[in-house]
Amino acid sequence: MTRFADLGLDPDILEAVHDVGYETPTPIQEEAVPPLLHGHDVIGQAQTGSGKTAAFGLPMLQYVNPAEHEVQGLVLTPTRELCIQVTQALRAYGRRKGVDVVAVFGGAPIRSQQAQLRGGGHVVVGTVGRVKDLISRHALLLHGCRFVVLDEADEMLDLGFLEDVERILALTPSSRQTALFSATMPPEIRRLADQYLYDPVTVKVQAMTLTVETVEQFSLGVRPREKPDRLVAVLAAERPEQAIVFVRTKARCEQLYRTLRDRGMNVKALHGDMTQGARDGVMISFKDGRLPLLVATDVAARGLDISGVSHVINYDIPTSPDVYVHRIGRTARVGRSGRAITFAEPQQLRELRAIENHAGVTLAPWVEDAHVAPTAVKAKPRRHSKPHDRVDGDGRGRKLIASIGRAAGLEPSDIIHAITAATGLDGEAVRNVRVLERFTLLEVPEQDAERVVDRVTGTEVCGQPVKLEPAAT
Ligand code: AMP
Repeated sequence: MTRFADLGLDPDILEAVHDVGYETPTPIQEEAVPPLLHGHDVIGQAQTGSGKTAAFGLPMLQYVNPAEHEVQGLVLTPTRELCIQVTQALRAYGRRKGVDVVAVFGGAPIRSQQAQLRGGGHVVVGTVGRVKDLISRHALLLHGCRFVVLDEADEMLDLGFLEDVERILALTPSSRQTALFSATMPPEIRRLADQYLYDPVTVKVQAMTLTVETVEQFSLGVRPREKPDRLVAVLAAERPEQAIVFVRTKARCEQLYRTLRDRGMNVKALHGDMTQGARDGVMISFKDGRLPLLVATDVAARGLDISGVSHVINYDIPTSPDVYVHRIGRTARVGRSGRAITFAEPQQLRELRAIENHAGVTLAPWVEDAHVAPTAVKAKPRRHSKPHDRVDGDGRGRKLIASIGRAAGLEPSDIIHAITAATGLDGEAVRNVRVLERFTLLEVPEQDAERVVDRVTGTEVCGQPVKLEPAAT
């Protein structure tokens, strides 16, 4: 088995890896770190959960000279959530070495980011739009940038950022080293790689290698009014390192948070009615491990990589079996197992059975100190929904674009359901659903397209009015 020490990393980086608790490199790390340390450009085909951040982050940090006060590394990300996540990881990996990592993303005051950049910043992690903006204000200078990473390049393409990415690349030294990570390799991304990477080494890991994880799963029968006390008892018995408690609504989230806080627990809430700044703050302290307990709604927790979590507690039973798998997949700490406890009210037993069928497990009744064989959880990849297979018929489909996406908590089934409910079409007629951050692409049969647009536009999906229109082709 390859060890981190065999990859060619310097002692201070190895110590940092040890500090964050990684024992052995993941496959993408094993394959990408050595060529990157040898100065090669790399194309990494891997998705979130594979350990890709360390795969590019460790070599990048190894090459940063903390004594030089200029931006030496740049990571471009498609979304602010990924930006924050990558920043947290790089800060941890670079801590021993004293590397300053600055995050720049939209939706936050640009002035404070400018100030942070003036204050130093060896590595900048940024969303494409904000990086461009800071460059145009001369607040971000890239002439000393020797290492550039394009993270989740296919998502940048989907969001229409590719031209901006090229403009940014053009401002970095041509002698730079470039790594491009992408879950998929559409032709546009290939072309980008051909044009901007020099003789790259391609490394690829099977999708989902690390998203299959083991979780001990339990259920706990409770009456509604007993729930807060039972939760406190479960937390006391389980003594989780870090737990996330899922509830169904924002109001319940706020209420449960207050109850736990009033009982003296170190807890925070995360839901969609909080300001983005407040949400970011909570996410950062949870990700850092400073916050042991989080009460969250599904939607709010979506942008959060919480793979360090030891416990997931479904205080409110998930709204669908898919949501269950999604929630408990979050305990997926590489190489270790987590525990998931699902509260079920007496009239929710049918829902519980549906979850068991879907996840292919029987949830053992929770009692103190209970242990069961951990079961693999096939958490679906978060980023790209699996395209529906093409159905028969004339095969001609019309691409449509819906005005909401993952940021609103949308899952493919939500939009399919909205269309079938409004039009009477069969769910199979909706194909190639791709949920992106702020919108969703899908295809319906040509002859039904107009009706779908008319009937679905204005209906509510995930609590928001949706607009459907033909996608530009
Ligand atoms: P990423 O795909 O970079 O988002 O990483 C997914 C999760 O795996 C993150 O929570 C990392 O902290 C964790 N991780 C990355 N590399 C390792 C490793 N070698 N051993 C254990 N956990 C890891």
